[in-house]
Amino acid sequence: MRLASFNGHRVGVVLEDERLADISTLVDPDPSAWPPVVMLKAIAAFPQLATVIRRELGGLPVHKISDVRLETPIPWPNKLIAFPTNYQAHIDEMQSTYRADTKGFFLKANSSLIGPSDEIVLPELSGYEVHHECELALIVGKQGRNIQHDAAMDHIFGFTCLIDVTVRGSQERVMRKSYDTFTPVGPYVVTADEVPDPHSLELGLWVNGERRQHGNTRDFILDIPSMISLASSVTTLFPGDIIATGTPAGVGPIQPGDEIHISIPPIGSMTVPVTQGRGGSNVAFESECHN
Ligand code: MN
Repeated sequence: MRLASFNGHRVGVVLEDERLADISTLVDPDPSAWPPVVMLKAIAAFPQLATVIRRELGGLPVHKISDVRLETPIPWPNKLIAFPTNYQAHIDEMQSTYRADTKGFFLKANSSLIGPSDEIVLPELSGYEVHHECELALIVGKQGRNIQHDAAMDHIFGFTCLIDVTVRGSQERVMRKSYDTFTPVGPYVVTADEVPDPHSLELGLWVNGERRQHGNTRDFILDIPSMISLASSVTTLFPGDIIATGTPAGVGPIQPGDEIHISIPPIGSMTVPVTQGRGGSNVAFESECHN
């Protein structure tokens, strides 16, 4: 099943012919309430909800996808975990001393999430490059702490595409990666049953039609069970948590006017434009100019 957020955090099931069925009211009587957690409730209620969806599908409101505004699928997760340098080729290009298996994970601000209809807005940081990182995102389906390697795949709800936008510099990684709009995610969450082998997914990223990144999840340093096991040794994973799995080689700068395209067949693809915003500098960036 493919789940989308649309038109003010409503939740839809994507149908075959470029349409989606609005399942919001099967999940929450007031889907427009704040905070926007209808998708979290839908994920937590699977698979019982899936049975209800199949039963009720014929009577649900249906829209053409082209007639709705697609949003980031999980706008209000409990957390957004990210693994650094989880592909050897990216470690080599960055001459990095970081490795996912020796350094663990970090967090990005949840408020950096945007979706397939939004724009990446660059801060005004003179002398710094902002880079694209093309990543597979894991979506947690089941709560757990200290999840064993053998049980880890049972905690995966699904997958989606994620761009980890990053200011290069020596400042705190969380700050450099947490600007509003710095985590495009989407277009849909694809449930795990539709992805037979998540360790053989091709992922690619294009800037203005030119391919910049290409990788395969078979080259993960930490595989998916290892990421789930490691993260849950520290923190309880909750339904809807997003885990960015690291970027393959080919990261590079983005500029205002660029169009960033990410594709992970069969999970999906989306194109996000880049614009220049106002503000965003601070004393930490001004004290050291660093590319
Ligand atoms: Mn990354």
